[in-house]
Amino acid sequence: MSRIYNFASGPAVLPEAVLRQAQLELLDWQGRGYSVMETSHRSPEFVAVMQETEGLLRTLLQVPAHYRILFMQGGGHQQFAMVPINLLGPKFNADYIVTGHWSRAAAEEARRFCNVSEAADTVAAGCCHVPAQVELRLDPQAAYAHYCPNETIHGVEFDYVPETGGVPLVADMSSSFLSRPVDFARHGLIYACAQKNFGPAGLTAVIVREDLIGHASSRWPTMLDYRAYADAQSMWNTPATFSVYIAMLVLRWLRAEGGVAEIERRNIEKSRLLYEAIDGSAGFYVNRVRPAHRSRMNVPFALRDERLEATFLAEAAACSLVQLKGHRAVGGMRASIYNAMPLAGVQALVGFMHDFAQRHG
Ligand SMILES: *Cc1c(COP(=O)(O)O)cnc(C)c1O
Repeated sequence: MSRIYNFASGPAVLPEAVLRQAQLELLDWQGRGYSVMETSHRSPEFVAVMQETEGLLRTLLQVPAHYRILFMQGGGHQQFAMVPINLLGPKFNADYIVTGHWSRAAAEEARRFCNVSEAADTVAAGCCHVPAQVELRLDPQAAYAHYCPNETIHGVEFDYVPETGGVPLVADMSSSFLSRPVDFARHGLIYACAQKNFGPAGLTAVIVREDLIGHASSRWPTMLDYRAYADAQSMWNTPATFSVYIAMLVLRWLRAEGGVAEIERRNIEKSRLLYEAIDGSAGFYVNRVRPAHRSRMNVPFALRDERLEATFLAEAAACSLVQLKGHRAVGGMRASIYNAMPLAGVQALVGFMHDFAQRHG
């Protein structure tokens, strides 16, 4: 069996070494005669998995001691609701910086709970850049300000952390988590669903400054209160045990590869290679995002001649390059090149794109 290069946007490629380890341990985990899926989440062996996962995350991202790491379910969408539920406190206004599909979706959900003010909206303006700091209309009285550092669908990534002047900054890092270091001093809360860069679906990580926990009204369900997770070491109820275990293997792999600084270096190299291929194609391939705001994780591109799209996808698949179709909201192609995509995969894609342009240009 040979692995192909999978450019899916999420759930996405996992490191091959992780899948092999999971396969090896599936029937007989650590000589126990059962799998990690078949034991109590309260058992010492699973508690150790939970603790190692949290510890690795804390070390790899250099999470300060006064930030709690919480694991939950519900994905990015549940955080769209949990953030206002937990962070509004007595306030009723929140700022949202809208730069693409996901930050817009977060803002729309928040409208159920509070007054949402759009500190910027670059989707309306064509969605190909992030606003400059001076363009942000931030309310110093807002309960929090929310942004999405990497827009998975539009391929737009912030090249700076917004300055909010003391208002807690919330980041949806679902598609850029662990791809680069995080400046925690500038963030009150970050969250990420796992299925892009961290593990399988079913797991969500929330890293939150301690003082922001404990402000949810008691009329909300316990499961939507960060305090329930903080008080119970993320085991208020049964966590997604298998997803946590795979995430632990992903973090061990990341550490063995050299950690976040090294993976960031590789992500810069991989994305540079791909954007150079697009820009160097004399207009055969097009990416409309402003160069400084191009995503290192998700690279959308169009073919000058749309009629070639189906041929491109079919020929790419024949070369073992799959899941390159763009999101329906944007069209065209999209190559997601998360941490687990090896440089060789990007090189193979770039080689194919060059060859395809020669034959069809
Ligand atoms: C995928 C994604 C989401 C949605 O996550 P779900 O787990 O499907 O709810 C939210 N935000 C961003 C940035 C994403 O990439």
